[in-house]
Amino acid sequence: MTVLYTNIRELVTNDPANGDGDPLGIITDAALVVDGAKIAWIGRRAEAPDADDRISCADTSVIPGFVDSHTHLVFAGERSAEFAARMSGQPYGAGGIASTVAATRAADDATLLAGVQRLTDELLRAGVTTFECKSGYGLTVEDEVRSLRIAKAVTDETTFLGAHVVPTEFRDDREAYIEMVSGPMLQACAPHARWVDVFCDRGAFDVDEARHILTAGMAAGLDARLHAGQLGPSAGIRLAVELGAASVDHCTYATDDDVEALAGAADTTVATLLPGAEFSTRARYPDGRRLIDAGATVALATDCNPGSSFTTSMPFCIAVAVRDMNFTPAQALWATTAGGAAALRRDDVGVLTVGRRADFVRLDAPSYVHLAYRPGVPLVRDVVTAGRHMAYPYQKVESRS
Ligand SMILES: [Zn+2]
Repeated sequence: MTVLYTNIRELVTNDPANGDGDPLGIITDAALVVDGAKIAWIGRRAEAPDADDRISCADTSVIPGFVDSHTHLVFAGERSAEFAARMSGQPYGAGGIASTVAATRAADDATLLAGVQRLTDELLRAGVTTFECKSGYGLTVEDEVRSLRIAKAVTDETTFLGAHVVPTEFRDDREAYIEMVSGPMLQACAPHARWVDVFCDRGAFDVDEARHILTAGMAAGLDARLHAGQLGPSAGIRLAVELGAASVDHCTYATDDDVEALAGAADTTVATLLPGAEFSTRARYPDGRRLIDAGATVALATDCNPGSSFTTSMPFCIAVAVRDMNFTPAQALWATTAGGAAALRRDDVGVLTVGRRADFVRLDAPSYVHLAYRPGVPLVRDVVTAGRHMAYPYQKVESRS
């Protein structure tokens, strides 16, 4: 079964061979043909081949599906009161995670799965067609395995984050917790995970601890990624580069040396910026342009979590990145699509070319620039994921009066 999507005013492919050599590889007056789950043809609409079915994109724009390389979706409860307190002047620390850990441990599987499915649906509605999901709110062997099993129900990109914080019952013996994370917990979790991650920051784990845990995870067959540089300057960014991690996430306080290290590792380690975290903690934003100009590979992700960034909206991240992090609209779109794919070491998504997965988003806008130009407006009209067309028409609600 082939489907022709035609009458696309502006098609972003992220293939520089298209268009004028720009990284976004834009084709105007475009069309594409989907065959099953993959793209079978892409080009100017006047040259499009026949297909079994035909859908007009009504002169709007089409972009690759967003690739969200950083989420924490498996949790119970919410922390709006903490957010309100913070917006009233209280500072953010890593300690609030403990309240989500308690709620998550107390929740049954069905509650956790329902929460994950609700957020997955939100991601899809906002145009995300691939996403990563971490454990990290269980922090016992059993609860971390359970979190990864539940994450696995919605994505293959699962990440073991037993080293999120030291749980309160280990407060007086953090070494015992670190040994458990890098020993029995890792062994139990590794079959359910692709990645290992550590929250390397003030109030969580230091660089030596992060090195110990990541090295153990890599020996168990997982690939590394790391949270570093969110709350202050940290040698964690260079640790990620040194270990060949796929991504180092936050990088808010990256130093000149860190930027240079990331530029030198552009083919290995992506710098993933998470504007939702700075927004929701009223913190300073990292400078995306500084990283891009130096030659680093940069991704943007939601960091969806109940404490420091409870958003599933990549368009929101784009708008903030453009307004406050010195990204151009083109750089921000690339970072949320091809950049996210690089951060997950995926070459089948994030780019629209023949043979890649048919993951794309039709916008209610003539250009992708509207994602930043019209902040907060729901511009995602419909989503095609692995060739399946998902439409979300507004439902008319009957009046009860
Ligand atoms: Zn995170």
